[in-house]
Amino acid sequence: MADMTNFSRNDIVEILKDDRVNDKLFESADEIRKQYVGNDVHLRGLIEFSNICKCHCKYCGLRSDNKSVKRYRMSPEAIIECARNAVNSGYRTIVLQSGEDNYFSKDILCEIIKEIKIFDTAVTLSLGERTYEDYKAFKEAGADRYLLRIETTDRDLYKIMHPGSDFDNRLRCLKDLKKLGYETGTGCLVGLLGQTPESLADDILFFKEIDADMVGIGPFIPHPDTPLGMYRHGDFILALKVMALTRIVLKNVNIPATTAMETLNPNGQILALQSGANVIMPNVTFDEYKENYEIYPDKFRSGDRLSVEEKIKSIRRTVAQDYGFRKQ
Ligand code: SAM
Repeated sequence: MADMTNFSRNDIVEILKDDRVNDKLFESADEIRKQYVGNDVHLRGLIEFSNICKCHCKYCGLRSDNKSVKRYRMSPEAIIECARNAVNSGYRTIVLQSGEDNYFSKDILCEIIKEIKIFDTAVTLSLGERTYEDYKAFKEAGADRYLLRIETTDRDLYKIMHPGSDFDNRLRCLKDLKKLGYETGTGCLVGLLGQTPESLADDILFFKEIDADMVGIGPFIPHPDTPLGMYRHGDFILALKVMALTRIVLKNVNIPATTAMETLNPNGQILALQSGANVIMPNVTFDEYKENYEIYPDKFRSGDRLSVEEKIKSIRRTVAQDYGFRKQ
């Protein structure tokens, strides 16, 4: 394998195409993970507070065109209560995620963020594309981090996958978030129709170029009520390779073992933790809402915190006790 400290685009493409190097790749990513971010695994409590979305992403079960979803929107009080429970059970980060739901105005969200910050926790937002003014207000209300996957850096593919959305606006959002001082997370889907190893290599180099603090990589999983419903899911090993390469190229970033990986492979999160990942985001949403946040079917349901901790300990890793910011 090429010099691991300095992969070129060509090296990345070659590695993605050659499965003979997989064991060495995963081992190297694991070593770099250990060297740069240690053995701690950060647990983030994920609250999926609204599945209402105005977007038309072709792969996503929450797309506004999908009329067979039972839509829900948690009240601000319920979101805050859910966050309180999660903090009481040990979480030091709360992630608030939703579809692009206009009901949640800047003011409503700022109130929710301020209330949750009282519990002494880091707050991550994942609400999609908003204005600079909104992002600024959320930051001033106390939000620490923001997740917004670029999904793919291939502009043509992006356009096909996201009717009505604008790649340049997504880039603008990521730049605004960085400028405002958020720990900024991005990432991509692996296995989109028409995606190439070259475009995945560009995704990895993009994460480095924008100096992403967190990177989430997930295999595409088809949802039957979307235009991509009849296509094959993304390849688990390929997604793992993109993640391992991201660790090797970006070194000290936070990388989740994603739910989509565990959905495709019953041991997916453990394998991810052993191939570069250092974060798990268990779902702490109240049960009555969980099943309707169906971005794809049979989404893996993380167990309670204890079972996640067991999983981490079973591979001799430790559960982090701090807020889990990016290590410098
Ligand atoms: N609306 C926010 C946004 O756009 O960032 C957050 C919610 S969105 C549902 C969260 C992520 O789900 C997306 O970034 C996308 O990568 C992932 N996702 C959606 N549909 C998926 C699918 N069919 N398979 C795998 N991941 C999917």
